[in-house]
Amino acid sequence: MSEEERPTLRVLEAPAREALPDTVEAFLARLGGPTLVHLAGRDRSRIRAFSTLLHGNEPSGVRALHRWLRSDAQPAVDMLCFVGAVDAARAAPGFAQRMLHGSRDLNRCFQAPYEGHEGELAEALLRRLRDHACEALIDVHNNTGHNPPYAVATRTDPERLALCGWFAERFVDCNLRLGTLIEATEDDFPGIALECGRAGDPLADAAAFELVSRYFETDRIPWKQERPLQILHEPVRIRLAPGTEVAFADAAQPGADFTVVGDIDRHNFERVAPGTPVGWLRDGSPWPVEAHGADDVDVSQQLFVARDGMLQTRRELVPMMMTTAPSVAQLDCLFYAVRPRNVE
Ligand SMILES: [Zn+2]
Repeated sequence: MSEEERPTLRVLEAPAREALPDTVEAFLARLGGPTLVHLAGRDRSRIRAFSTLLHGNEPSGVRALHRWLRSDAQPAVDMLCFVGAVDAARAAPGFAQRMLHGSRDLNRCFQAPYEGHEGELAEALLRRLRDHACEALIDVHNNTGHNPPYAVATRTDPERLALCGWFAERFVDCNLRLGTLIEATEDDFPGIALECGRAGDPLADAAAFELVSRYFETDRIPWKQERPLQILHEPVRIRLAPGTEVAFADAAQPGADFTVVGDIDRHNFERVAPGTPVGWLRDGSPWPVEAHGADDVDVSQQLFVARDGMLQTRRELVPMMMTTAPSVAQLDCLFYAVRPRNVE
């Protein structure tokens, strides 16, 4: 199929359970590209939105969707389920690429001017979602490092806190403008991105299936926060400075400008004290990181200090989404630093 003939967004109406392939890989092959799966609920008058696989290397959400579709269950209300980076997920060896080489990160494309294939896809999805008055949106992701489940939202309001509390104990209010799906739909309906754990971890797959089952099958979303939440805000995005060669190891690596401490992701969501080592600096290599919050000012020198050949934290911070994958560090970021909301 040529580029012109390929539909931007496929729609799959109420797939019959028996017609679905029994592996998620075959399911993705059947979809053939980014697809909106529309399911008929017991109550046809209401509809919820679900999204997953915006990143091709984050399989838990689509595994959960596929498993749920092959079960006997019926959704409580109509469901619009978006499966995003199908091509990237299918590229060998499978679930290994965030996006295809030469493509853009789909979850950075939900903002004008909606250019290129990913931009058109994002715009087409937004149009479909807005045609319906969705009750809510949950967008399921995985991390590449060790993280507990947590929600990311663009506002701290009762609806979003309630959605988070249904599935996770940590809530991150993200005021960064990255071009994500939950940003683009924040005025349309309450939405959260749900990070359900590390890609490939069976616990993350189980958490995603639990989420899908509850979200699809529960008649009324409990719009009341059901448990106390750790609320974090004002994320600062820590990225590699351009041209920095990074490695992850438990000792400085020859050839790397910056060797990040190999098990750094163990610190996710912990309060990290000033003076904590982040990584080894190669002699004479330039400052390795940039750190930008919503105001786009580089605060990396306020957060970190170079001392004794290492990059260390300068002040207390709470890291999240720390990766130990060099490709993710290069393409996206090393981690985010957040602040607990009750402590300033
Ligand atoms: Zn993701």
